Amino acid sequence: MRIRGAVLEQIGLPRPYAESKPLAVGELDLATPGPGELLVRVEAAGLCHSDLSVVDGNRVRPVPMLLGHEAAGVVEEIGAGGSDLEVGARVVMTFLPRCGQCPACATDGLTPCEPGSAANGAGTLMTGGRRLSQDGAPVHHHLGVSGFATHAVVDRRSVVPVPDDVPAAVASLLGCAVLTGGGAVINAGRPRAGDTVAVVGLGGVGMAAVLTALAADDVRVVGIDQLPDKLERARGLGAHDAYTPEEARESGFKAAVVIEAVGHPSALETAVDLTAAGGRTVTVGLPPPDARISLSPLGFVAQGRSLIGSYLGSAVPSREIPHFVGLWRAGRLPVESLVSSTITLDEINSGMDELADGRAVRQVIRFD
Ligand SMILES: [Zn+2]
Ligand SMILES: [Zn+2]
Repeated sequence: MRIRGAVLEQIGLPRPYAESKPLAVGELDLATPGPGELLVRVEAAGLCHSDLSVVDGNRVRPVPMLLGHEAAGVVEEIGAGGSDLEVGARVVMTFLPRCGQCPACATDGLTPCEPGSAANGAGTLMTGGRRLSQDGAPVHHHLGVSGFATHAVVDRRSVVPVPDDVPAAVASLLGCAVLTGGGAVINAGRPRAGDTVAVVGLGGVGMAAVLTALAADDVRVVGIDQLPDKLERARGLGAHDAYTPEEARESGFKAAVVIEAVGHPSALETAVDLTAAGGRTVTVGLPPPDARISLSPLGFVAQGRSLIGSYLGSAVPSREIPHFVGLWRAGRLPVESLVSSTITLDEINSGMDELADGRAVRQVIRFD
């Protein structure tokens, strides 16, 4: 079928992206789903920093690639052999398929699925194929999702069903921002009653970590960011306090759990500095592969602190997404408050500028 989508053809074009237009929005071909695959009509897709990282070359991926890895939609067709899902089911797409059988999948979310990661690196679905093409030439899938399009063919193992009462924008954010930021709090930070949770970097993932920590009982939550607007927004979401990194350092602020959601070495150093004795620093940001940090090992030993890396929120999506839906339904996880603007597919390049400037929390593309 013919679909409309946003294809990255060349990595590292100069900013502003509104002028260089790294993402070409146009028509391309989507093949029918193979066995174990689904055709999904995309309802909403969020713009995440990991999309920008492919555009600017910090995460090197094969091109041409149809970007977008945070999306939700409705199943329209099921590949040969059937599925446990039915046509009409609403699904959240997640950016790392889980085979459920490799040693990594046996770690309960601690390490990323091996064949899932290999498929993501190759720009294919986990079944090994590519269903996207343009003028007869194959186009790569982005993290098994390629959600910046009207339709997507995905592996069944890349989606989690959600109930009909979850709005599309909320459902899309469950797939990356909430799974990554919220999962990092629940699965890696593991705050106890009376703890303070600090979140360094208040983009979509960081704000989702703030919301998830606020949903815990008897936990104090502090947002940390360079931008005053982000601090204001964190307070508006219910954070007990919000500081710039300098303010936090100068005041001697420490937290039992610190989540770093920036993907820059200096942000991780800040997060480690702000971690209290006995505490846990959790890093979810994705810096360039050659980035290095400077840390005192003594602080970890003498103060019994730990540093934990968390990919996809150390989550098992089929377990965590229903948990987050439950919190959202109870009014304890207002995911819609993460949406800073709603845009069209044609506005995607200027959306990437907003992301690069750090202004946006979550911009969501609607396909109505
Ligand atoms: Zn993401
Ligand atoms: Zn696996």
